[in-house]
Amino acid sequence: MPTELNLPVPPARASRRHLGALLVALALLPLGAPAARAQAAPLVVATVGMIGDVAAELAGSCATVTTLVGSGSDPHLYRASAGDVRALSRADLILYGGLHLEAGLAQVLDGFEGRIPVVAVSEAAVPAERRIRASAAGGVYDPHVWMDVSQWRDAVPVIEAALVEHAVDAGCAPEVAARAAEYRALLDDLHAWALAAIASVPAEQRVLVTAHDAFEYFGRAYGIEVEGIQGISTETEAAVADIRRVAELVVVRRVPALFVESTINPRTVNAVLEAVEQRGGRAVIGDELFADALGASGTPEGTYVGMLLHNVSAIVVALGGELPPLPATLAAWETRW
Ligand SMILES: [Zn+2]
Repeated sequence: MPTELNLPVPPARASRRHLGALLVALALLPLGAPAARAQAAPLVVATVGMIGDVAAELAGSCATVTTLVGSGSDPHLYRASAGDVRALSRADLILYGGLHLEAGLAQVLDGFEGRIPVVAVSEAAVPAERRIRASAAGGVYDPHVWMDVSQWRDAVPVIEAALVEHAVDAGCAPEVAARAAEYRALLDDLHAWALAAIASVPAEQRVLVTAHDAFEYFGRAYGIEVEGIQGISTETEAAVADIRRVAELVVVRRVPALFVESTINPRTVNAVLEAVEQRGGRAVIGDELFADALGASGTPEGTYVGMLLHNVSAIVVALGGELPPLPATLAAWETRW
């Protein structure tokens, strides 16, 4: 067992106590003390960016949101550092996906149960009947639920409720609710745009070949066949038989492009490409997709909306479709960058 799991957890929620003391002090101050809320902003710690970004969108200045698993890191294999455990111990609220996504963090998160509110966002947002069963070792269900935007939209009220109940001041609740409503409308438009975009790919070529099975929900939502070479979790290696099977499919269907993911070593995709060429087929490697982690912070791909826009655009362009114009809400969103 890794040593970081044995780090002691502070017995009480110091930050909450501190906040309570601060609020008492504030009540004694004359009205209009500026920036008091910013100094006392509650801390929300999310495991992955797909959750942290939505929490930050909803919280605005009402909370500080930090994310443990950074850009380019693999949540299936991620283990908490001592710094992560310290950050978690200071949190007012911990948000994680669940469904066995953060396999290496499970014990650390369990350690905080009962001390700090810990909410499994994916498990709360997606009822069992809408979950896809995992085809490979790991959990019972496929954890990559954010790949269907209409489904991740349901994570918004879960995160909103968690923020209001456990993190932000009561005075912040209307603000958070307004931002949540606006963000859900943005996701509705993103979902409709993605549907139209993928539908523009010629049916025969509507096959998405990627390194691991992170796109099953994406395929179900947007009507594209998905071939993950490596299985649902990256904890297992791709077998030679998988590489051969996928290569044959690419040749027979004349799939023009295969995709690598930002968090996964591209060697299995390269092995498929080699096998395609050995069989006299031809394909290229499309733009890198973001599957299990957002792109670099400060870039559009460092957000959930930008991640989906990027993935859909990369897939549609490489597979011979045509991108529809962005709806007004998304066009306005793009002007942020
Ligand atoms: Zn994954």
